[in-house]
Amino acid sequence: MSDSRAEYRAHLLRHELSEIVGAEHTSVNKGERQDQAIDWSWMSQLYQLHDLELPMADVVVRPGSAEEVAAVVAVASDHRVPVVPRGGGSGTQGGTFALYGGIALDLSRMDSIIDIDESSMVVKVEAGVTGPQLEEVLGRRGLAVAHEPGSFHFGATVGGWLAARGSGVRSTKYGKSEDQVLQLEVALPPGELVSTLPVPNHAAGPGLLQLVVGSEGTLGPITSATMRMDPIPESMSFLTFEFETVFDGLEAGRRIMTERLRPAVMRLYDEADREKLSKILGIEFSGALMVIVCDGDQRLVDLESEMISEICVDVGGADLGETGAKTWWDGRYEPYAMGKAPRPPTIFGTTDTVCTFADMPDLYRAKRKNVEEGFAEYGATYTAHFSHWYPWGVMVYDRFYVHDAPEDPMESLALHDRLWDAAIRVSLEHGGVINEHHGIGVKLGRFMREQYGTAWPVMQRIKDAIDPDGILNPGKLGFGPPR
Ligand SMILES: Cc1cc2nc3c(=O)[nH]c(=O)nc-3n(C[C@H](O)[C@H](O)[C@H](O)COP(=O)(O)OP(=O)(O)OC[C@H]3O[C@@H](n4cnc5c(N)ncnc54)[C@H](O)[C@@H]3O)c2cc1C
Repeated sequence: MSDSRAEYRAHLLRHELSEIVGAEHTSVNKGERQDQAIDWSWMSQLYQLHDLELPMADVVVRPGSAEEVAAVVAVASDHRVPVVPRGGGSGTQGGTFALYGGIALDLSRMDSIIDIDESSMVVKVEAGVTGPQLEEVLGRRGLAVAHEPGSFHFGATVGGWLAARGSGVRSTKYGKSEDQVLQLEVALPPGELVSTLPVPNHAAGPGLLQLVVGSEGTLGPITSATMRMDPIPESMSFLTFEFETVFDGLEAGRRIMTERLRPAVMRLYDEADREKLSKILGIEFSGALMVIVCDGDQRLVDLESEMISEICVDVGGADLGETGAKTWWDGRYEPYAMGKAPRPPTIFGTTDTVCTFADMPDLYRAKRKNVEEGFAEYGATYTAHFSHWYPWGVMVYDRFYVHDAPEDPMESLALHDRLWDAAIRVSLEHGGVINEHHGIGVKLGRFMREQYGTAWPVMQRIKDAIDPDGILNPGKLGFGPPR
């Protein structure tokens, strides 16, 4: 389309959107449109480093209520233009890139806490509420939504937690965002607000709730959610263990989880990642390092800590006391702090995956080999920690790095994508799911067909039934362009 046609259409669109939200909450300014596209993906950081433009929307709109979001979706449906929701822009998968233009739907104005029900321990919020906002209000009552992602201070919103199936640092005990949500409201084409059932556990048919959770805006913008609250724990214990190998640590973690203990935090660092962590914490360790935090009622914490310690020692772990785990807890956001997190031109990717305990040792070995040997000519390195545990398995938060990256950004991008191909291949071949908590976005869309196999056409049919024009966050989650 010529620039003049695109500009005029953006003008028309903005005019209609202004009628809904007020002109001051819309924009066609290029800088603002670009800001809406930017997230924390490596691709986004690379483009910013080289002053390249990310794919951006034609118009930005900032609705102030669920009804306004629905009206925006109605306008988008009328014009058959894309809608790209944005919460805090802390995503790492390019989910906010507007590959096909359209409307950038900024939900940050929708940050009200609607209702706090202390007897049921649930809180209803608008989708744009952030973790720190919740912490400030609920903390005063001794309560919390126990979801603290590493991006806690990067603006991540409740809508974004749910859209990308996020995990917080205490997910092993308190669950992922998908376990903490009771109900949500979503705006569907051609512009209607739909609520899921009031509670998630029932026998009234399949769960619409979990269809929307993880849909990354491809089935509609989430406008509000009711989340479970938990009390701020009365006591915490900190345990640190060193294991000769990461496999001993994995066995200890497996026993802890299958014996149905529930530490709030359990993080096992392989030798390479432990090295990095040692530098950040300023403490020397050797071998594989496990930091554990138990929280809750003092008597339960004491008992749980004792039982966990017994298992770790039984598997050959050396008990290092509380300092390592306490220092980790106090500095838990440090590894992500500005200046400490890696940045382009270094090529890196967090290829986190999740599988059963039985599959994890081989998956980990194979991925490390594929990255380090397969990309030896580039000096690729691999680090891993295991940080979100389940009754049946564990997630590995693993990363590749190439420090000596090609100067040309497109060559760098191509090498980045090849590293991803190699890493994801291993996850798929070893029973892993291609992502555990960062989501899919544009980064991993190409693997979704293979991930789902014969179930992929079912996913596509569900998408088509809800969004027949394909306008909801097109090009994400493996779904194609708008129709
Ligand atoms: C340093 C760092 C550490 C991180 N650590 C963690 C971690 O520990 N755990 C974790 O889970 N994630 C982590 N992340 C990833 C990211 O913070 C999460 O995915 C977060 O949940 C995204 O929320 P957001 O509001 O910023 O979403 P955005 O980045 O704005 O959007 C992410 C995706 O969700 C869609 N979306 C956003 N809001 C809505 C909505 N209301 N309705 C429908 N779709 C929507 C967007 O279209 C996009 O596709 C980390 C990121 C960084 C930069």
